Amino acid sequence: METEITLVFHNLGLRSFIEVDLCARCPRQDDKGCCGFYSPVFYPTDLVYLYINEPDLLRHIFSLDHLTILDASVTVNNVIDGESYRCRFHSQAGGCTLPQHLRESVCRHFVCAGIGWMEEDSLQDWRRFFDDLTDYEIETNNRWSEILANLGITLRRPELRDRFFSELVKLYRDNLDNLPDFIKSMPEEETRTLRRSLVFGTEWIL
Ligand code: SF4
Ligand code: SF4
Repeated sequence: METEITLVFHNLGLRSFIEVDLCARCPRQDDKGCCGFYSPVFYPTDLVYLYINEPDLLRHIFSLDHLTILDASVTVNNVIDGESYRCRFHSQAGGCTLPQHLRESVCRHFVCAGIGWMEEDSLQDWRRFFDDLTDYEIETNNRWSEILANLGITLRRPELRDRFFSELVKLYRDNLDNLPDFIKSMPEEETRTLRRSLVFGTEWIL
C-alpha cells in the first residue's frame, strides 16, 4: 500500500527538528515505534536550553531514577516493557510526552529508515542541513564540556550543578550571537512530501 508522508523541517538552530505525520500511525503498530529502543541523552546544548526555558522539566529529569549522569550529560534510561523497552517519556496514549523542540538531538532529528528521506534527491538540501547541524552540535557540546571540565565542574557532584549551569548560560549566550551560516541560510520551516509503500510490524525498518 503506497501512502503520502509529510515531513516538516523546522530550522530552530540548536533546537531544530523534523516533524513526520506518519508517526501518529506508525507502521510498527506496537504503540511505541522507534521509542521502544532508545534512551535519550541530554547534552549541554539541551540542558542549558531547558535550564533557561523549561526549568520544571529539567528538575523533573534530575528527579528521575535510573539516570546515568556523567560529567556533562544525563541519560534517561529506558525501562523493560514486554518483549522490548520503552522510553520514560513515552506514553501509550499519545506517543512522546515532550514537545519536539524540548527533546534531545537524536529525538529531534531521527526519522526511521523505512521512510528513508535522506535518499531522496529533492531533499538533499535538508540532509546537508541536518548533517551539518549534527556535526555542529557535537563540536559545540565537546567544546563546552571541555571548558567546564577545565573549571573542575561536573554534573556528577550535585553541589556543583548551580555552577555548571551558570557557566553554561554564558557559553550559550555567546553562541546565540554567533550562529554558523548554514543555519542562517535555510528557511525557518519547510514542508515536503514523499510517497512510500508501507509494510507493518517488524517488517517496517527502524
Ligand atoms: S518508527 Fe518511524 S514512523 Fe514510527 S514513530 Fe519512529 S520515526 Fe515515526
Ligand atoms: S524522548 Fe520522546 S521521542 Fe525520544 S525516545 Fe523518548 S518518547 Fe521517543
